[in-house]
Amino acid sequence: MKTSVIGYPRVGALRELKFASEKFFKGEIAAEELQRIGATLRAAHWKLQQESGIDWIPSNDFSYYDGLLDTASLFNVIPKRYRALGLGPLETYFAMARGYQGKQGDVKALAMKKWFNTNYHYMEPEIEDTADIRLEGTKLFDEYAEAKRLGIATKPVLIGAFTLLKLAKYTGAKKAEDFADHVADAYSAVLDKLNALGAAWLQLDEPALVTDLTTEDIALFSKLYSRILSAKGNVKVLAQTYFGDVRDVYPTLQALPFDGIGLDFVEGKRSLDLVRQYGFPDGKVLFAGVINGKNIWKNDYPRTLGLIREIGGHAQQIMIGPSCSLLHVPYTLAHEKKLPAEKKRFLAFAEEKLRELSELKAIAEHADPHASPLYTENEKLFSGPRFTNDEAVQARATALTEADFRRLLAFAEREAIQKAKFNLPPLPTTTIGSFPQTADVRANRSSFKKGAITEEQYKQFNFGKIEECIERQEEIGLDVLVHGEYERNDMVEYFGESLDGFIFTENAWVQSYGTRCVKPPIIWGDIRRAKPITVEYSAYAKRLTDKPVKGMLTGPVTILNWSFPREDISLKDSALQIALAIRDEVLDLEANGIDIIQIDEAALREKLPLRQSDWHREYLSWAIPAFRLTHSGVQAGTQIHTHMCYSQFSDIIREIDDMDADVITFEASRSDLSIIESIQACGFRTEVGPGVYDIHSPRIPSVEELKQALKRMLESINPAKLWVNPDCGLKTRGENETWASLRNLVQAAKEARNEL
Ligand code: GLN
Ligand code: ZN
Repeated sequence: MKTSVIGYPRVGALRELKFASEKFFKGEIAAEELQRIGATLRAAHWKLQQESGIDWIPSNDFSYYDGLLDTASLFNVIPKRYRALGLGPLETYFAMARGYQGKQGDVKALAMKKWFNTNYHYMEPEIEDTADIRLEGTKLFDEYAEAKRLGIATKPVLIGAFTLLKLAKYTGAKKAEDFADHVADAYSAVLDKLNALGAAWLQLDEPALVTDLTTEDIALFSKLYSRILSAKGNVKVLAQTYFGDVRDVYPTLQALPFDGIGLDFVEGKRSLDLVRQYGFPDGKVLFAGVINGKNIWKNDYPRTLGLIREIGGHAQQIMIGPSCSLLHVPYTLAHEKKLPAEKKRFLAFAEEKLRELSELKAIAEHADPHASPLYTENEKLFSGPRFTNDEAVQARATALTEADFRRLLAFAEREAIQKAKFNLPPLPTTTIGSFPQTADVRANRSSFKKGAITEEQYKQFNFGKIEECIERQEEIGLDVLVHGEYERNDMVEYFGESLDGFIFTENAWVQSYGTRCVKPPIIWGDIRRAKPITVEYSAYAKRLTDKPVKGMLTGPVTILNWSFPREDISLKDSALQIALAIRDEVLDLEANGIDIIQIDEAALREKLPLRQSDWHREYLSWAIPAFRLTHSGVQAGTQIHTHMCYSQFSDIIREIDDMDADVITFEASRSDLSIIESIQACGFRTEVGPGVYDIHSPRIPSVEELKQALKRMLESINPAKLWVNPDCGLKTRGENETWASLRNLVQAAKEARNEL
């Protein structure tokens, strides 16, 4: 048995690549310096894997921005507008990743999309009709040679032809099928070159195979690989899948002349059944993903050993590895100085997972595995108590009944009561919650964290900001005000910190996209609200004005999806616990006179299962009720808002309506307006605030432009149901553009109102 790693994180244990890249973007360091830092990180990661005893170490898993963008660049998939800038290869690459504004022109970045069911985002390759797809880049070969010079024979990895074609956007008349031969030839050229370099394996990542596939998809996959694999020569080719099982193509995968097939036995619910049912071809290697590449818990060796045995009974040769690239977990526990040892014992980040693989291999090869000290040690860990149990919380969740998930009055009755109560003008204006987190706001927080100022001083500053914010919102004439969220660093961490059951890390960063990393909290035990979280600031804001002030909370599904979840209880159970905690907060806000409350579910769609057949059974059947549980206890006259940062919910529009919020705001300014038509077509009852301008850009939209946006929306949406707001929170924007844009927004709403 051997061990193999699919991919390793690349930003550096202390985010070295992020900081170097940002310096390079600002012109503070030269390209050579950035490349030197990249090479240092690659060498460190290879060496670490080598020292951990990994047999097949990946290369070309490194990236300056994104692996799919690397793949597109390798194959010359560079849209004309970027070529026209006439920049060097690295600058062209970053122009696609981040956009370019300078002497050579002004172009926006490629679109960024979510990578399957993770919180990682890739750059969407654009294939133009005139695209000349061929092997053009050298990164893959350079990095292979670089590792070889360090004495490490790596397994180069590349995103596979099928996934590349499936994720690309086609800007002209041609479709994936039209490029299949050229793409296959480009991959064949990679194999030719790797043959010349003497590489043993090439890993082609094909996560698109775990999604619902049509017969055309399967035909495309077969066509691509019949052609590619005829060029493999002495290089062995591994089809690596992850994030699920390959139920639609398993027989096809077996029949094609791959030398290895990589299956995910952690997230792939049917992987084991497929192997049991169809067996595994002799002469091929089964790369078995047996330790979770997405979560941070230590592996349960007794369980995994059983799994390895069973898999080994079906395949002649197996290699064990993580279920997916380790890109999705933080680097190392070594930099966590504050986490107590009794908690760390249960955790494994990327570096620790490498060790787990070697240990599992050693145990499996041990003459009497169950007597191996590595085994017994781990067994002890898993048989002892682990999580903090809170019986009251568990009892409360168990006692929930149908009625706890439903508001007393139906939507239409509440709507009438609220219209009479709030007496807002038609097309009411509001914002999504946060206002610019300017330098003074951040300085105040960091002084408080460092202990340089007292809690009282910290709060006084925030109260001052709230006063200013309320005053300006009144002055420009917004209808429903917010307090501005100056006290929040992050919409999940802020709540996690006030809930029992979460633990936090110092350096457990995970790449979200490009140079951006997130540090998700860990759900350690049962969750309970320790104390009121937002009431003081919201109530303070409310006292400053006669206008309604919207309370601002993060919803349970988003808190769960942006944390590392427990594995000993279901996601549903964790979601219900968080929902109960948020429910307490909702009721406290209401008791303090806050009668409009927004519960953000920015990440609700993120964990929607990849296969449609799983949507309800595995996710929506508890995610939507968890949201309802947070607000079902309020009076009919309390108005519940929710917000989502995207508009791709046409396919789950009924479920969104079934969240039973009174108002939903979402992003609509950047996407096409098809969502608006879906809303009309399905008889959506929730009132809607499709964002009228894009807050991700510093541009100030004109009144005319905003009116046009409203007009278009009014063609499909009943004016009695339409709200006017930006498309997301304003915390990343500057003060000037924010207030100028909002002034125009209010003016546009007024003019549109008069024309109703
Ligand atoms: N209320 C949050 C804000 O305004 C919402 C952020 C989000 O949806 N990402 O910042
Ligand atoms: Zn948002």
